[in-house]
Amino acid sequence: MSKRDYYEILGVSKTATDGEMKVAFRKLAMTYHPDRNPGDKEAEIKFKEINEAYQTLSDGQKRAAYDRFGHAAFSQGAGGPGFGNEFGDFMSDIFDNFFGDGRGARGRGGQPGRERGSDLRYNLEITLEEAFSGKTETIKIPTTITCDVCAGSGAKSGSKPRTCPTCAGYGRVRAAQGFFAIERTCPNCHGRGEVIDDPCPNCSGAGRVSRERTLSINVPAGVDDGLRIRLAGEGESGMRGGPAGDLYVFLSIKPHEFFQRDGADLFCRVPISMVTAALSGEITVPVIDGSQTQVRIPAGTQTAKQFRIKGKGMPVLRSRDVGDLYIQVFVETPQNLTKRQRELLQEFDQTASDENHPESAGFFSKMRDFLGGLSGAARQ
Ligand SMILES: [Zn+2]
Ligand SMILES: [Zn+2]
Repeated sequence: MSKRDYYEILGVSKTATDGEMKVAFRKLAMTYHPDRNPGDKEAEIKFKEINEAYQTLSDGQKRAAYDRFGHAAFSQGAGGPGFGNEFGDFMSDIFDNFFGDGRGARGRGGQPGRERGSDLRYNLEITLEEAFSGKTETIKIPTTITCDVCAGSGAKSGSKPRTCPTCAGYGRVRAAQGFFAIERTCPNCHGRGEVIDDPCPNCSGAGRVSRERTLSINVPAGVDDGLRIRLAGEGESGMRGGPAGDLYVFLSIKPHEFFQRDGADLFCRVPISMVTAALSGEITVPVIDGSQTQVRIPAGTQTAKQFRIKGKGMPVLRSRDVGDLYIQVFVETPQNLTKRQRELLQEFDQTASDENHPESAGFFSKMRDFLGGLSGAARQ
């Protein structure tokens, strides 16, 4: 669809002064005003056209954009702002088209005001030790900024983008499919609404360039897996001076080879020998701060017994509290016995009584009662 030239619509020259345009607009508006032409569709369309032309040309900035880019400067095509929409989002459309990528805003019919930059997500994986002590992490975030060579137009200096002939600058094309009218991104201009014959060498016509930004993130001690740190204003830059988006750092903590974490407490499963478990002893266990500590194992310790070491867990975020370290022992049954060891154990077994194994003794005595009760019941 071709749109008439605004100057032509108002019947003025391209060099017309504001005063000249005002006079021309008033004269035409009087003639085609809907109140004077009730029911006249053509007059209504003309009136809208006049109004649109005047609204654009009477505004210095819009007029400059129009002179430079023609209708493409406001390329909302048929769905564009018409009569009654006081062109409130005109400026945003201009910038969407020429100083940003313009894809989203065009499809939605433009947005008033300046557009906020996108939020960014960064996945940061740290170790449990780092979560324990806190750390400053330097991260590199890929982001895009407006190309400063072409100021975002994507066109080589001296040339300018041309309204896309396929979609008339609308960025989207309609196609009928059965009963449905499908609207899709224009295949010719990929939604930009304009085509660039001579692309800017700096951004290859994209209007934006990729940049890597380096940021220093302070990860406080005590952070937990799944935590989200929001860094306000560290996302992508806004369009046409709009506020920047936020950066969300999604924190994950690598599994640790010794410690499992539950809130501020740490758990560590430690094997002990059968002899230590039976006779008592001391074992050495690791601590998250990199040190080690001793745990006294009393005689007769069973598998799954837990020992609490106070204050050796994780720090609590934004607090002075510290969790505990739980050592859970399990008795490791000896394997690969020598002949001599075998004899010793057999010798031990011959001297063993129910006193040595009260759990076993209790269990088997209960089991006999249980089975005896069952067979008694069966006989009746
Ligand atoms: Zn460029
Ligand atoms: Zn197109």
